Amino acid sequence: MKSTQAERWIHLDCKGMLPSEERLCQWLTWFREHGFEGVVFEYEDRLPWAAWPGVFRPGWPLEVWRRIWAHCAALELEVTPLIQTCGHLEWLLQADSLAHLRCAGHGNLLCPSHPETRPRLEAWIAETARLHPQSRFLHVGLDEVYHLGACSACQEASAASKHGATGLLLEHAHFVCETVRKAGKEPILWSDMFVDPAVREALPEGAIVCDWDYRPSKDAPPGRLIHPLARPAMGASAIRCSFSPWQMLPDLDARLSNIRAWQKLAVEVNGSGGGLRTLIHTVWGRSRSLAPLYGPWEGWLPAFLAAGEPGVEFSSELEEGLACLREGLSTEALSVAAAFRRLGGVRSVDPWEEQALRWWELSLRHRLELCAVEGVTFGREALRPTFARRGVDANIMAEQVAGESAFSNRLNTLEHEVAEWLSRNQWSDAAEYLESRFGNLRHVLAGQPPFALNHD
Ligand SMILES: [Zn+2]
Repeated sequence: MKSTQAERWIHLDCKGMLPSEERLCQWLTWFREHGFEGVVFEYEDRLPWAAWPGVFRPGWPLEVWRRIWAHCAALELEVTPLIQTCGHLEWLLQADSLAHLRCAGHGNLLCPSHPETRPRLEAWIAETARLHPQSRFLHVGLDEVYHLGACSACQEASAASKHGATGLLLEHAHFVCETVRKAGKEPILWSDMFVDPAVREALPEGAIVCDWDYRPSKDAPPGRLIHPLARPAMGASAIRCSFSPWQMLPDLDARLSNIRAWQKLAVEVNGSGGGLRTLIHTVWGRSRSLAPLYGPWEGWLPAFLAAGEPGVEFSSELEEGLACLREGLSTEALSVAAAFRRLGGVRSVDPWEEQALRWWELSLRHRLELCAVEGVTFGREALRPTFARRGVDANIMAEQVAGESAFSNRLNTLEHEVAEWLSRNQWSDAAEYLESRFGNLRHVLAGQPPFALNHD
């Protein structure tokens, strides 16, 4: 009997932190064992592209990528490469040598009208296809191209199209998809720029539309395009997406809700003869190439489990940990502290779960310090006008200074433990991550004027 469940792919966004090669292979094996059938690698600048020399950011050299792809093949985990072919190219266009390819100076947007663009994309797509001889698909992105039609050449082309600036994107999509087909692959593209039915009709034949929707199900059922779409389609949930980058963890229930809503939709659509053949569960590394890091994958373990195995039941340890997180993601310091202490007692014999639990514990301690920041920063500023008018109270000032010093010491200890955890689990870019979660707090404190008041 044919399953109404969609195929399950995991999307790994290489713009974020990367595990070591050894650890990535362990993750890939774990993904396969937990129900995933495919992996989408969004490479960005983590692969040394021959088509774009000089922009490689380690990353892995090609021989390591080849071993990773071979490991996927041995696991029967289908690999789909993802390269952006219009927007979201900050990692590329920030290079001085490529700045002339920006559309009207927009650092994220490769100008579709620039005479160099098409030959360069042809070379890149051919290279990507060559590196992935066993892959059926090539994902070409094309989402969130909000600045389209910005330069004078693009404005002219937009004016000539009945779809305006979107017409320019459609024409570019036709070129990209045709190039992918010539390279022997089936093109996949994100859906959000093609929601208008008239535009959708004009999409290149055979292009597979991937409808991404990361909202929790209480906001709306997912899928803006799946139902009205005649062609086979894919859907995309988010195991991890946009959250406040000064925090270490967001609300995981919202992610679980989004994943389960997509799985429910796939069963409904496929059960009524539709073609929602694949769900890509995205794991974003940052919101954009040049935005802050989201952190290591372990913290999102329940979302991985739910995405890989629809209907999976979590272990009692994971359920207990999630209950602590729900309480601990509060803004009330007392709730956070209580949840953090409870979480300390939750231990799992499963090494993956244990790492997730320990990351959550560190995250709640960090959350507690975020609560404390209010007192040490705004608290200090609140004293300043009173002292200026009423005179300085040396005792109050001493209490404030002692509080700041204790805060700073706790921050140092916690940062050290987080650094050790990241090193133990073999994550890249730890220095950048730590600077974004701890350096930011120190910086805010250091930026305040000295506490002693001027009486001149
Ligand atoms: Zn342009």
